Amino acid sequence: MIIVIKPNTSREGIDQVIAEVAKLGYDPRPIFGTEQTVVAAIGDERIHHTLESLNVLPQVQEVLRVQKRYKLVSREFHPEDTIIDVDGIKVGGPHFTVMAGPCSVESEEQLLSTARAVKAAGATILRGGAYKPRTSPYEFQGLGKEGLRLLQVAKKETGLKIVTEVLSERDVEHVAASADILQIGARNAQNFQLLIEAAQSGKPILLKRGMSQKIEEWLLSAEYVLAHGNPNVMLCERGIRTFETFTRNTLDLSAVAVAKAESHLPVIVDPSQGCGKASLVAALCRGSVAMNADGLIIEVHPHPAEAMSDGAQQVDFKAFEKLMADLPPFLKLTGKGM
Ligand code: PEP
Ligand code: MN
Repeated sequence: MIIVIKPNTSREGIDQVIAEVAKLGYDPRPIFGTEQTVVAAIGDERIHHTLESLNVLPQVQEVLRVQKRYKLVSREFHPEDTIIDVDGIKVGGPHFTVMAGPCSVESEEQLLSTARAVKAAGATILRGGAYKPRTSPYEFQGLGKEGLRLLQVAKKETGLKIVTEVLSERDVEHVAASADILQIGARNAQNFQLLIEAAQSGKPILLKRGMSQKIEEWLLSAEYVLAHGNPNVMLCERGIRTFETFTRNTLDLSAVAVAKAESHLPVIVDPSQGCGKASLVAALCRGSVAMNADGLIIEVHPHPAEAMSDGAQQVDFKAFEKLMADLPPFLKLTGKGM
């Protein structure tokens, strides 16, 4: 870190800063300028005490970070793309992976018909929420354990792998027993205790970006999972809150480019939560592919108008088939294949 000392600080004031830097575990190297002095603090900022506390000293103008706050998720640390093996389905690197299915698991008929349709159109992973994080306590909360059972039935019949959300630490063990990928939702993106529990399940994690989460914070959430021994994290951009209300969220495709550059982890886009409108999903899928995303997670429902959650943004089977058929030319641009 670099501590910038205010102009006209006495030698005594500078020495006090040097002494504090040493006390906090860094090697202080002062650089005396004609107008101002800076103290370079040599040491790993991620391991030692943060020097940001030195801002409290009246002679300190600014404390500047040199290193990034995340390490394990960074491309500097791990230059090659991470490829995650989801029980035989590869995610990341040259692979493009489509996860699709209803927002919520509602019934056997709904889930099985959707599983068959998305598989026929090229998806390899089935999504479906058994535990739903709803804004209102009066809205459908998901079928819980029965939903997990139905996901297993669909997996058994179709061979699709399962991604489903885990809402609380309490549920990690039994959700992990039914899921191939644990989804951490936007509302839990900074529930660090849940991230740790989910990491320790050993299952691959699909980590949604929080709805008001900065990219750095999102990467730090992923860092929690890696720091707790689980390298298999997929970052999922699902739109953020902005001033715009025409769409439910603003899908942040620049975050896809940033995440791909900053991190080696696969980046998945959720255009459904991203825009909230079924009519916009296909275009956002094409855009995401062109942005070099590693996959998509798309909400598909047999009768979106009757859906128990997120009806406005779910595409029907025909629309899903069409949007999938439109992807290959865009995939060709990126060199990825399904
Ligand atoms: C969902 O996938 O249905 C969902 C609730 O996602 P998010 O956490 O991104 O809102
Ligand atoms: Mn949804």
